Amino acid sequence: MTAVRIEVKGIVQGVGFRPFVHRLVEKFGFTGWVRNTSDGAELELCGAGRALLLFIEELKNNPPPLALIESVEYREAEPADYAGFEIIPSEAGERMETLVSPDVGICADCRRELLDPADRRCRYPFINCTNCGPRFTIIKSVPYDRASTSMADFPMCPDCEREFHDIRDRRYHAQPDCCPACGPRCFYLDAAGREIPGEAVELARADLKAGKIVCVKGLGGMHLACLPEPGLVNELRRRKRRDEKPFALMCRDTDCARSLCRVSDAEAAALESFRKPIVLLEKLDAKGLGHLSENAYLGVMLPYTPLHVLLLGEDIDCLVMTSANLSETPIISDNAEAMRELSGIADGFLLHNREIQTKCDDSIIRVYAGRDYPLRRSRGYVPYPVAVPLRRMLLACGAEQKASFCLGKPGHTFPSQHMGDLKNAETLENWEKQIDHFAGLFDIAPEAIACDLHPDYLSTAYAEERAEREGIPLLRVQHHHAHMAACMADNGLTGDCLGLVWDGTGYGADGSTWGGEVLAGGYKGFRRVGSTRPIPLAGGDAAIEGIWRVGAALLRESGLNTARFENEAGYDAVLRMLATGTNCPLSSGMGRLFDGACAILGIKTRAGYEGQGAVLLEAAADTRETGEYPFALCDSDGVLTLDWRGTVRALAEDAAAVDIRAARFMNTLVSAAERQLAGLADATGLRRAVLSGGVFQNMYIMDRLPGRLRSRGLEVFTHSRVSCNDEGISLGQLMILEANI
Ligand code: ZN
Ligand code: ZN
Ligand code: FE
Repeated sequence: MTAVRIEVKGIVQGVGFRPFVHRLVEKFGFTGWVRNTSDGAELELCGAGRALLLFIEELKNNPPPLALIESVEYREAEPADYAGFEIIPSEAGERMETLVSPDVGICADCRRELLDPADRRCRYPFINCTNCGPRFTIIKSVPYDRASTSMADFPMCPDCEREFHDIRDRRYHAQPDCCPACGPRCFYLDAAGREIPGEAVELARADLKAGKIVCVKGLGGMHLACLPEPGLVNELRRRKRRDEKPFALMCRDTDCARSLCRVSDAEAAALESFRKPIVLLEKLDAKGLGHLSENAYLGVMLPYTPLHVLLLGEDIDCLVMTSANLSETPIISDNAEAMRELSGIADGFLLHNREIQTKCDDSIIRVYAGRDYPLRRSRGYVPYPVAVPLRRMLLACGAEQKASFCLGKPGHTFPSQHMGDLKNAETLENWEKQIDHFAGLFDIAPEAIACDLHPDYLSTAYAEERAEREGIPLLRVQHHHAHMAACMADNGLTGDCLGLVWDGTGYGADGSTWGGEVLAGGYKGFRRVGSTRPIPLAGGDAAIEGIWRVGAALLRESGLNTARFENEAGYDAVLRMLATGTNCPLSSGMGRLFDGACAILGIKTRAGYEGQGAVLLEAAADTRETGEYPFALCDSDGVLTLDWRGTVRALAEDAAAVDIRAARFMNTLVSAAERQLAGLADATGLRRAVLSGGVFQNMYIMDRLPGRLRSRGLEVFTHSRVSCNDEGISLGQLMILEANI
């Protein structure tokens, strides 16, 4: 007999780790104990030496599904005479980390029981277990137990109680465990809010199959659902006043997704993972399903709650599922609010009486280089921490349009879920409420605050007011520096590197608008070493929607005629502004360059949403085209600046088809970035480059640029834990704050 002491680091609390260990130990017949520690768990086991090694291997290779094990270390211990195996309390005085699990998609075991006529939870829409079910969205406070969740209203029946206390049961300590006898119930209401008698899910299914639009209460909020038929989808767009943004689909299973999209093994794994995000998949027919998405990709997710499994059943292959909210307001999560706000939009309401404590939208990812490439980090990911080294408790307030925040303390940093645009009053209110909620859950009292340099962001106003009130330091962080730092933190980089930040807009250190930048530096500070020739935006913000204004500016700056836009409303005024420079703030934003090119190509002259120009350009491009246009890199006060005038002239005068020209335009930007970064790497001696900013949501660029940079001897880093768009910058702000206080 030998004894070992095993230390497990990572996220092992609240994920069924100790019962898992208990069962495994029983299988091997060891004696000893397990306890939680501040950063994981500790075990002492007595048994045969060879079996102990097998146990450790098993622990490393097959941990419980929700555990994130960072390391397993062991050493020999003094054999003791334990009577059996037990779970013992943590060492007194140890400061325990409370981590909260994200919501977890339905597991295979629960799915089987859900569909098993002999099971007592057959067709019960709230079935869950230790390995799956609602978590983050039902928790009011910590410690995490039933009384501090939405399940407090539902006392357990004796059967559920017995499972809960039986360590051999797969519902041991599953706080939201319930059954038809004791748990929440679903109900179905008509458009007027009258409950219709009958089985709620079946009533909803009948309405969906009859071509109706149904509000469905999910984990973190309501969805509007309908069959993916063009007429219905257009009706949904009309009612929701969502003209052009793509809609995501919920597909019954991966095979069903394969009938519409190409699905790689890695993408299938992402779809089926417990996080159940929306995965952007390439359509089989790039130009097809235009009523769902105007680009070559379709957002697809699989059913992630038992309710969804029942809703799709065996005969509905897929449903359009879009967050139920009205333009830019937070996702609706409350029954009464749904009835009020969605009257006239939904024909029926599939609701239930389990309250949603925290709003949380579906996450959106791509799979890039075999890893997650987050575009919206939300349900299923939040509030898992991101490991970054901090010495203090800090708050970073993010940007404004794709708002987020980040709260951190030594050991763990918690990026928030997707929040939307803070310019909407309800979104701002929810954002502030979530900051307090996170601070309470994770016991963080910030000692300093970071915000964007932009004086008008509402997140900046919040940070200023709070820092003043609490008498704590405030650091204003330049937008693109924060993007760069976010990508560095995402990859665990320290020291200095180059940051290629291609973005829509961000407040520059000189007060102008930046967004096509190369920065050199690290968390401590940066130098702007590369940029893009600024574009005059006639009418300022009016050019974000009226992208033809950018097209006209590009043409005029390049010495070309702007007559192709003469039928646009306000054309003469725009030309006057461009000629005199009045009301023409300058922007070096790469996103604007995409908008302008989109307008010049005549694809679209007005954007229905921010970033649409880039989306349409990407969708139009022929991926086989390798040609490109000229460009120049010139030194402008020590900043290596991309001059796009030659590019614009060639683009405007090229007689080739639009798909070829769109590709040539983007090929040019790839070559320009390659040459710019290679030059700056030589000049600065920095050979690592991080890519961040919203433009890197563009897969045409992402499929080409990193390889080209690597061929020039650069080491290239891209995002995999937070988004490259503005949602990710709170993490970067936090790192910069940590380095500068
Ligand atoms: Zn389960
Ligand atoms: Zn029960
Ligand atoms: Fe940005």
